[in-house]
Amino acid sequence: MNDILPGEVETWQFLEQSAREVFGYYGFSEIRTPIPEKTELFCRSIGETTDIVEKEMYTFSDKSENSLTLRPEGTAPVMRSFIQNRLHHLDPVSKLYYMGPMFRYERPQKGRYRQFHQLGAEVVGVEDAKIDAQVLAMLHQYFVHIGISSVSLQVNSLGCPQCRPGYRQALIDYLESRLDNLCGECQRRYQTNPLRVLDCKVPGCQSATADAPSVLEHLCSSCHNHFEQVKGYLQALNIPFVVNARMVRGLDYYVRTTFELVTDQLGSQNAVAAGGRYDGLVESLGGPSLPGIGFAIGLERLVLMKGEQQIAPATPQLFIAAMGKDAADRAFVLMSQLQAAGMRAEMDYLGKSLKAQMRRANKLNADFTLILGEEELQSGKAQLKNMSDSSQSTVTLSNLATTLWEKLGQLSGSS
Ligand code: ATP
Ligand code: MG
Repeated sequence: MNDILPGEVETWQFLEQSAREVFGYYGFSEIRTPIPEKTELFCRSIGETTDIVEKEMYTFSDKSENSLTLRPEGTAPVMRSFIQNRLHHLDPVSKLYYMGPMFRYERPQKGRYRQFHQLGAEVVGVEDAKIDAQVLAMLHQYFVHIGISSVSLQVNSLGCPQCRPGYRQALIDYLESRLDNLCGECQRRYQTNPLRVLDCKVPGCQSATADAPSVLEHLCSSCHNHFEQVKGYLQALNIPFVVNARMVRGLDYYVRTTFELVTDQLGSQNAVAAGGRYDGLVESLGGPSLPGIGFAIGLERLVLMKGEQQIAPATPQLFIAAMGKDAADRAFVLMSQLQAAGMRAEMDYLGKSLKAQMRRANKLNADFTLILGEEELQSGKAQLKNMSDSSQSTVTLSNLATTLWEKLGQLSGSS
């Protein structure tokens, strides 16, 4: 679990603000749900035989012996809230997004942490393939907006409760014939969760499943048509993608369209975003029978990818250097007035010498420094120093704010 410190937090703020902006264009509203939920919510939705539920959840009993779990993902809590608050009565189509911490007890490594952050979006109420394409278009547009282009979109269809059992059985039969070549974990899970074997990172499992049956060849006609439509809309929108029939998702609730955004920049943690359709989920959690689709982006992985392009923290527009107690008191009032008017203003609080104050103004990268002493208080005029070219001008203190805004305007106009 990491602290996010000044200097790094600016990148986070940029990624979060960009999401609010872009998701807003597509008509999504934010939803905020509690961090702990009843444990059974995750067992029922994510699935008992998934990595998350089997070994990654932060589960504890509260003082009344309720079993609670720190949310490992965002879809189940959002659907729980959707049902509980009857959001489908407000609008037949709900477009929701969320951002915040998630918790999984994993082996920490680069791009994989125990508290991490996701930015996710969900649409409930639409079966039409247009919404699959719309959600992918929004995800694509978000990456364009934040300036990350080194990702590729992989799509697949996992079928539905009509066609998946047939595929599942075909896969189990295939795996059975190659059991000796699978790793211990896959030998254990090939019957309970055969799709997961396709996803196993162990090289032996990858070669053993190289020509496993393809899910796409087992789709029923309505899943096949749906997938064809999704691909058609993506082409119409000029969104590049590749079909990856081996891509399975680690959560049980996915049906039909599933997708991942992958990068080659992060080693084995190559997925920066993932999602898919979950048409039966809302109903299985006790809600109305409504289809849904969504994705989650891993923010830590985006921050790692932004890497060098870190966003600089905002610097002061004015530093007031003061000599003596009276000047410091006046500086304090001036600074506070400017801050209240929306200017980033700073001063010294530690009784430092003028020289040390100027050094600090430099270090903070202030645009201007105002120098205040006894004489300046008497005359009502002071020297304003432009820190980038060291030019000085005389300003009237009673007119300080107006003069500064003008000069700052010229500064941003000329840069
Ligand atoms: P992975 O295959 O990397 O374990 P996942 O399939 O478990 O990912 P999802 O549950 O689909 O991941 O979550 C969506 C995104 O959240 C991932 O693509 C990834 O960017 C991010 N993510 C998931 N787990 C972690 C983690 N422990 N630390 C940081 N980011 C994570
Ligand atoms: Mg995982």
